Amino acid sequence: MRKLVAGNWKMNGLRADGLALARALVARAAAGDNPDCDLAVCPPATLLQAVGDTIRGSGIALGGQDCHAEPAGAHTGDVSAPMLRDIGCSYVIVGHSERRTNHGESDAQVRAKATAARAAGLVPIVCIGETLAEREGRETIAVIERQLHGSLPEKIEASKLVIAYEPVWAIGTGRTPSDAEVAAVHAHIRGLLAARFRSAGETRLLYGGSVKPGNARELLGIANVDGALIGGASLVAADFWAIAQNCP
Ligand code: PEP
Repeated sequence: MRKLVAGNWKMNGLRADGLALARALVARAAAGDNPDCDLAVCPPATLLQAVGDTIRGSGIALGGQDCHAEPAGAHTGDVSAPMLRDIGCSYVIVGHSERRTNHGESDAQVRAKATAARAAGLVPIVCIGETLAEREGRETIAVIERQLHGSLPEKIEASKLVIAYEPVWAIGTGRTPSDAEVAAVHAHIRGLLAARFRSAGETRLLYGGSVKPGNARELLGIANVDGALIGGASLVAADFWAIAQNCP
């Protein structure tokens, strides 16, 4: 399975910034020194059109950062999965910890969003991960199990699902779990998927949280780590590219 390295630009970038970043990535792709993995960028909704136009044909996929569970309707300020598909997205992040925390999103809401994403032809990147208090309370595995159980759609093909394990305390902090801790959680997720899917090996399990060029080789080399979700470092083309080039 090819690994996937996806950039979550979060709420960053005016048109000029987004275009410059997208053009820098396209220039690297055109230069031929391509990483041995799939690439995706998830810009803010305002930049999807411009970034999508810029990366078209480069091999870099487009993703949204969130979607509503309904395809259309009276939901001021929201963006639906069919809208994301219509503008050229292949992926959408759902259940990012910033949405779970800042918008109080429950597992049930994340599941509804992931279901809507799949129905629209998108591959949902479902984020799960424990807080620092939960890790210190030795609840990591219980939290992962609860979130996975509650957030995954009832029906979805293993190959059309991406899961991102993102310890909340590692996001944007410069801290990462040890290799053994990442390996243990990813193996556990794989086991949970195996109980559900015959082809559980086809679901890509990304690690996310303070991945940088300097630690990417180590993190991407861990068993059952099928790629990475990158926040801060995805805003610098050279760093995003360097991380992807560390895919073994
Ligand atoms: C994220 O928010 O998904 C993330 C992984 O952020 P960072 O890489 O900045 O820790």
